[in-house]
Amino acid sequence: MRTITTVDEMTAARGAAPGPVGLVPTMGFLHEGHLSLVRAARAECETVVVSIFVNPTQFGPGEDFERYPRDEENDLALLRDAGVDAVFVPAAEEMYPPGFAEWVEVRGPLTERLEGEHRPGHFRGVTTVVARLFRIVRPDRAYFGRKDAQQLAVIRRMTADLSLSVEVVGLATVREPDGLAMSSRNVYLSPEERERALVISRALGEAERMVAAGERDAGVLREVVRRTLELAVAVDYVSVSDEVTFEEVERVEGAVLLLAAGRVGGTRLIDNVRLEAYSGLHAPQHEREGAVWRMGMVWPAAREAGLVSGGRSGLGPFATWGLCGGAGAMFGRRVGSASTGGCGRTRGSRCGHTWRRRRRRRGG
Ligand code: AMP
Repeated sequence: MRTITTVDEMTAARGAAPGPVGLVPTMGFLHEGHLSLVRAARAECETVVVSIFVNPTQFGPGEDFERYPRDEENDLALLRDAGVDAVFVPAAEEMYPPGFAEWVEVRGPLTERLEGEHRPGHFRGVTTVVARLFRIVRPDRAYFGRKDAQQLAVIRRMTADLSLSVEVVGLATVREPDGLAMSSRNVYLSPEERERALVISRALGEAERMVAAGERDAGVLREVVRRTLELAVAVDYVSVSDEVTFEEVERVEGAVLLLAAGRVGGTRLIDNVRLEAYSGLHAPQHEREGAVWRMGMVWPAAREAGLVSGGRSGLGPFATWGLCGGAGAMFGRRVGSASTGGCGRTRGSRCGHTWRRRRRRRGG
């Protein structure tokens, strides 16, 4: 594994690298969430590049740029173990040389709402650094976590609008066994705050169950989640949004995102789940980029019927395939709400196809 610190060296290494090249942009202090992206890249690409750069321009005044956790030695050891080919660890002057004046900015509701509203300038910093990384590394594929769902949507928008020839891959949120979404910032939490932080994933899980039980009113879901969160979290927002435009929706129809952000003590945390609800006997088989077929109500029934076993997040590809065939035949339609796991994007009702895509894309 090569550790590269300059843009010139990275550009030269890219020129000699066999493709396809996969890039995983990170800010370091790596955890299993990051490593899930790295493993997906490793499975799909000839060359895997991971960048570690705590990007100053995406932090606002008074945010945690200076104290953001860093442990380069441990990060490099983890990436070496994961079989990464090159780690790009540029200094700030490499990414922002003197006189730097080029900003890349996606405008409109997508960057103005939610994280955009609470962290002014954040997305401009993200798109600027990601666009620059894309130009330097020229990846064929770039891997991002759905944990930062709005960021993923902004990067997809930027990539489409600039006609960049990179496939943006979004992967499922990796959680601690008790449900807390993994984040480098979790290290800030005291044991008592960490306990309180669990309310976030629990509240989102409660909303998932409500959708599975038939609730479709986004206002009711927002209210229930907000009231639950307020017991332990200083809430910034609770939103039920369209997953592409990030505009607020009034009903859960098709796939939408339930997103929450707030502070536990001095630590700002975000989390989200995808909610899906379909009406009619034959739900649409085509979904937008990044969609995942979720289990929802089908899951308990399938488990009882002995079609699958284990926890929802422990679903393996074979179990997924089995459930697709079994539940599809049993129910004749897709029913569901968001949880973890699930098949990749579906085209037509061929579960074998779904299974193959899941293996290749790891969650789509
Ligand atoms: P960060 O280092 O926080 O900038 O994150 C780098 C990448 O890892 C981003 O694409 C994040 O969305 C992704 N990521 C962070 N936490 C998780 C998680 N718990 N599960 C999946 N992806 C994650």
